[in-house]
Amino acid sequence: MRDILRADAARMSLVEDTFKATLRSYGYDEIRLPLIERTELFTRGVGESTDAVSKEMYTLFDRDEEPLALRPEGTASCVRAVIANDMLRGDRPRLWYSGPMFRYERPQKGRYREFQQVGAESFGYSGPDVDVELISIGQEVWERLGIASNTELRINSLGNFASRTIYRNALVEYLRPLQEKLDPDSVRRLTSNPLRILDSKDERTQELLQDAPRLMDHLDNESKDYFRELVKSLDNADIPYKIDEQMVRGLDYYTHIVFEWHSEKLGAQSQIGGGGRYDGLVELLGGPPCPASGFAVGVDRIALVHQAMTAEFDARSAHIYVISLDLDCDDYADEISRTIRESTRMKVRRHRGRDKVKNQFKAADRSGATWAIVVGQDELETKSVSCKFLREKRPQIEIPVGRLADFFTRATT
Ligand code: AMP
Repeated sequence: MRDILRADAARMSLVEDTFKATLRSYGYDEIRLPLIERTELFTRGVGESTDAVSKEMYTLFDRDEEPLALRPEGTASCVRAVIANDMLRGDRPRLWYSGPMFRYERPQKGRYREFQQVGAESFGYSGPDVDVELISIGQEVWERLGIASNTELRINSLGNFASRTIYRNALVEYLRPLQEKLDPDSVRRLTSNPLRILDSKDERTQELLQDAPRLMDHLDNESKDYFRELVKSLDNADIPYKIDEQMVRGLDYYTHIVFEWHSEKLGAQSQIGGGGRYDGLVELLGGPPCPASGFAVGVDRIALVHQAMTAEFDARSAHIYVISLDLDCDDYADEISRTIRESTRMKVRRHRGRDKVKNQFKAADRSGATWAIVVGQDELETKSVSCKFLREKRPQIEIPVGRLADFFTRATT
């Protein structure tokens, strides 16, 4: 697990803030969920045959020998919370959460053991209008962050339970005689989670799958209509997408629509988010029958895409650095700092520590600030400040206190 510093942390905050603001603007409510849950929630809710649960979960025992797990994802917790708090009675909540998730994976760029997600879940809507809303929220965020041109939406239909079961059997029937040629993971999945064989990375397995029965051919009319309507709504909303018939997603609980967002800026770990419909999960976890759909995005990866696409990013500690030449001027320097903070959106860092003027300037330079504001006895008397340009060869200027807000507002527009 890693520490995230300075510009990297600032980029991740930007991604989170943009998601949060967008989700709020769509009327989604925040829910805060615990980091630790009973292990059983994930084995039942996410599925024992998934990598996230069978291979990657951090588990521990508390003092009562209760088996617990650091959450590997947010959907199961969100469903548990919605049931436990009786939120489905007479209501159809649309919620979002954010925070760290934990998976014991082999770390590499874009893949970490602790990573941040923002997720959104809708309960009580049988879709596909709400699915399209969820996808639109993602699309809006990519646009706001300036990464839409590099983000690809992939969609697929897994059909309803009936279609999925029929397809599952057809796939197993086709693959079973070929068992010896499959990779070991796929052999295991033949009994535990056959659909996941479709997104195996093994070349030989992929070759065998070329002639396998296709999921799309096994959809019943209800499933086909659902997918058709969803695709039409995406077209109407001008949201570009690619249909990816091999995509089944890692988790067990999806039905009908599954989707993923990818970015080519990331290399191997190209998936920046994903989601879908999971109509059976609420009931599976002890709630009433309740259609639901949602998505989760990986903040760490989106920040990497943002970094690759937007070289100019202001992660400086300060825009303005305020220096006092004299102990008697400290209160005045504090007051000036406050005035600028209150009247502009600039980051104003006041020097702290009783340092010599030379060292105060060194600190100003290190902070990345564009301007140093310097106050001494003269400035105090004339109710003004001296403003030095730290990044340009320009003579210093004097600004009356009353004009500070105006000066810095103009300087940034
Ligand atoms: P999932 O819960 O597997 O659908 O993942 C949703 C998103 O979380 C993915 O698209 C990734 O962006 C992100 N993600 C999943 N696992 C990791 C990881 N180990 N490190 C960083 N991001 C991850």
